[in-house]
Amino acid sequence: VLRRAEAPAALTPRLRTPLAPKLVAPAVKPAKGAEKQRGRLTVTSATASDDGDERTRSVAAFRRRTQRMKGVVEQKERLSREVVLPETITIQELANRMSERGVDVIKLLMRQGQMHKITDVIDADTAELIATEMGHTVKRVAESDVEEGLFDAPDADDALQTRPPVVTIMGHVDHGKTSLLDAIRRANVVSGEAGGITQHIGAYQVTSPLGGLVTFIDTPGHAAFTAMRARGAKVTDIVVLVVAADDGVMPQTVEAISHAKAAGVPMIVAINKIDKPDAKPERVRTELLQYEVQVESLGGDTLEVEVSAKQKLNLDKLLEMITLQAEVLDLKANPERPAEGTVIEARLDRGRGPVATVLVQRGTLAVGNIIVAGSQWGRVRALIDDQGANCVHAGPSFPAEVLGFSGAPEAGDRVAVVESEARAREITEYRDRQKREQAAVRGTGARSSLVDMMSQLKATAGLKEVPLVIKGDVQGSVEAICAALENLGTEEVAARVLHAGVGGITESDITLAEASNAVVIGFNVRAHKEAREASERLGIEIRYYNIIYNLVDDIKAAMSGLLAPTLRETMLGNAEILEVFNISKVGKVAGCRVTDGTMERGQHVRLIRDNVVVHEGKLSTLKRFKDEVSVVQPGQECGMAFENYQDMRAGDVIECYRVEEIKRSL
Ligand code: GDP
Ligand code: MG
Repeated sequence: VLRRAEAPAALTPRLRTPLAPKLVAPAVKPAKGAEKQRGRLTVTSATASDDGDERTRSVAAFRRRTQRMKGVVEQKERLSREVVLPETITIQELANRMSERGVDVIKLLMRQGQMHKITDVIDADTAELIATEMGHTVKRVAESDVEEGLFDAPDADDALQTRPPVVTIMGHVDHGKTSLLDAIRRANVVSGEAGGITQHIGAYQVTSPLGGLVTFIDTPGHAAFTAMRARGAKVTDIVVLVVAADDGVMPQTVEAISHAKAAGVPMIVAINKIDKPDAKPERVRTELLQYEVQVESLGGDTLEVEVSAKQKLNLDKLLEMITLQAEVLDLKANPERPAEGTVIEARLDRGRGPVATVLVQRGTLAVGNIIVAGSQWGRVRALIDDQGANCVHAGPSFPAEVLGFSGAPEAGDRVAVVESEARAREITEYRDRQKREQAAVRGTGARSSLVDMMSQLKATAGLKEVPLVIKGDVQGSVEAICAALENLGTEEVAARVLHAGVGGITESDITLAEASNAVVIGFNVRAHKEAREASERLGIEIRYYNIIYNLVDDIKAAMSGLLAPTLRETMLGNAEILEVFNISKVGKVAGCRVTDGTMERGQHVRLIRDNVVVHEGKLSTLKRFKDEVSVVQPGQECGMAFENYQDMRAGDVIECYRVEEIKRSL
């Protein structure tokens, strides 16, 4: 596989520019070649007789010569090929793809004044010029094309079959999501097997009382749900929104509603804990109205059911509703095709190696398939269902543990079956490289820190927000912090609390922060080890406080930073360009005289031609004679150059000014 990305970047710009214009007139220096040939003629051919010369020639050369003498001009009639060009290519490879000799390509480049070895890497633009020059057509392909056709190939309508719905349970913390998942699972497992469920699996299937299966997946949080969606995996068909009847609609309930709505996934409201004496299911219904969720009993179209995870009340009814909703959605997939799916979770198992829970979405996954997920690939060694039993196939909506990956993929990675190991390697290597490049771009700098946030968001118009994830030791202080932060908000800036909760900072807090570029705040709590590692890895800032006042102060400062600063311009002086010099290595330098005020290096400048501003930028060089100076006084002459701008002309006026930022605060 070509390591295309590693082409020396410096090569390309040097190459591209001189080649383009010269190609129009390729035979620029024929004189030298002619001279050379004549030289060779005098030394060898002139002394040798014609016959003797003929004998040393090869058969092919002889044939060529006779053809030439017969006047056959088919030597020019080469096959024109369609050459596939990646973003970068070696000269050797380019020559191969054109079925030309490498030396011919090198010669062509040499004629443009470019010296190259056959192993040198050139960019696609240059390669295209060469190929067209040699009479071929090109097809440019991007490196990302290796992923082409991996997902979402359409299926014929008659191949589609009904598949089970995939359900995610969401809701506020402690409203009983885990309990409900467990209760449904336990109620559904034949009693004899009940004791057997020990291992945790991120997804499982149960049978609905109306017949048919229902798949439940356990995403660790709303952020995970959205993160999966962000990566292009639409996993969930139906969201069950759990709301505790004794607690009502809480912030994460609202968050879940917006996540589900954003994904365009229908919701079923499960009002949980109705066994509790202080349960007020009616209150839940009316509270939901505020968030545009109108349940059936209030005349809306959102299905609802009162349940108790603890007492296993109405679980069947919930399953029935899911089946009904699924019927409305008319979910279908083609089982007779290579599988596609999504990684629900993955881990490294000490005994079994990388284990990924994969939800198959289309097609059928089978033992022996070669699969890719993210930057990992493998051959499926075993498929294990939610009961811990080995299976040979996994069809649509079937969750299974997959053994055989080379490394653990990430939750949310899309899984696809590919035809060969080579393809799998090509794809994962490409993704790996991309990941590395992205990491390099991101650098070591933190991605979201309060300081960064100011500069990042400054550019965006409208209401600016400081997204925060807040964890505290007790509910009281968390509420106090949220209230205090809310009061800070103005029309222009506001703190947006993505999530506030009690307890240590967990890995899922970091994921949530990552998804929204938020800063995590710990009030009298600390981050778990995994969370700390994740925050370092992802560059998410965690700030610890033990005094609310300090916390609020810092956030206030960050928010003040988001207030667009007022810019004030101070005029420094004007200069007139007398002459423009072209200095090698430096570029264009304007020789000027300062007409009034002063010129200062590093300050902002405008280039004015006929009273029109033609360029705004900064001064890169300011010289008096040979010396670099910081200020030039009126009447003096000086040399000036701009950052990233060359087109100055004699007679232009350079205006120098200082820009001051005046910070605003709340
Ligand atoms: P999660 O944070 O949404 O996953 O909530 P959990 O499933 O961990 O439940 C939080 C608490 O609520 C636990 O102590 C459960 O025992 C309790 N709980 C869950 N469902 C019910 C229920 O239907 N009735 C009662 N009384 N308690 C419940
Ligand atoms: Mg839970």
